Amino acid sequence: SASSATQSDMLRARMRLSLQEHLWEFYQNNVNIPPEEQTVARRAALDICAEVRVFLHAKLPDMPLREMYLSGSLYDDLQVVRADHVQLMVPLILEKNLWSSIPGEETIMNVPGFWLVRRENLEYFPRNSSYWDRCMVGGYLSPKSVLEVFDKLVAGSINWPAIGSVLDYVIRPVVPSETLTLEVQYETDRKLYVDFLPLLVMEDGTLLIAKPHRLAAERHENLWRQSFRVAETARLRALDQEDGGCRSACLKVAKTMCKLNPALHQLNSSQLTNIILLLSEKEGDWTQEALADRFLQLLRALVGHLEAGRLPCALSPKVNLFCELTEQEVDQLGYTLYCALSDPQELLRT
Ligand code: GDP
Repeated sequence: SASSATQSDMLRARMRLSLQEHLWEFYQNNVNIPPEEQTVARRAALDICAEVRVFLHAKLPDMPLREMYLSGSLYDDLQVVRADHVQLMVPLILEKNLWSSIPGEETIMNVPGFWLVRRENLEYFPRNSSYWDRCMVGGYLSPKSVLEVFDKLVAGSINWPAIGSVLDYVIRPVVPSETLTLEVQYETDRKLYVDFLPLLVMEDGTLLIAKPHRLAAERHENLWRQSFRVAETARLRALDQEDGGCRSACLKVAKTMCKLNPALHQLNSSQLTNIILLLSEKEGDWTQEALADRFLQLLRALVGHLEAGRLPCALSPKVNLFCELTEQEVDQLGYTLYCALSDPQELLRT
């Protein structure tokens, strides 16, 4: 009847209102990191970066690297809960005529978003013409082997206890670690994790990072991962700036939700960012008042993409951002989020 329809409309409106209030409160109290904490963490990261630079220049002056730099959510105001991790980007210099990149979809593995980097002209420029030939495996530049080179240096030859005592930090390489990570304790109760991320900038600007494919490690061992992070983050920010939108806030709430819930740990920032970019193509209202509606829409979109087993990258639709999840993980994630649709606040419980 008309009156019960009105009642359920009112009930729904009230629920939305309370979710809206809850989300902004959650954002203030649990998501946001105080600026001082971010500053101190950035300073610790910069100190470490400086030490690594000095060490590499002194010890391996002929290693062809561009200047290392720090990057990640801590530098884009997108880190949540704690200021506790950064990436130290290490760009390798490759000779243009000696190396070429092959997109993953043109290889036997058929994985868009990953690339092989092949050694060329071996007949004219034999092995060891390029510094990075030492990391060549089966004719390809191996990200795993590149990581091992840095692992030996950073975990093996840098005297971290000595540097730590000068800087007044406790620094130790994290072992075992699939990436190469330093743990930096810069206050009694504060730790910063610094990931070393070797990368290649190809001639057309494509950015490839030495972060292994999660599945079938051996088969995919030589694959470099294309990074869309810079472009994704820039697009998100630009859209928010155009309309004073809440996309970044929505992303940070979603990131915190995934952090709080072990069942959602497999979801990463890139997937969440891309869902928001895809939603932005269809949905215009990103005002602060619409946060609850957009957040619910984000959850529904996630469920939908999980059901389809596919999340296209907004910047390169052939890339499936779920391609490293097992079927089981996809089901588990979909189930958790589907159950949460009726009571999303449950996922924001701290
Ligand atoms: P957060 O770690 O969830 O706060 O999100 P970030 O946006 O900082 O993402 C960091 C993750 O993205 C790390 O696991 C990186 O390995 C990966 N990543 C991929 N491409 C890039 C890149 O270009 N820069 C950085 N810093 N990380 C990247």
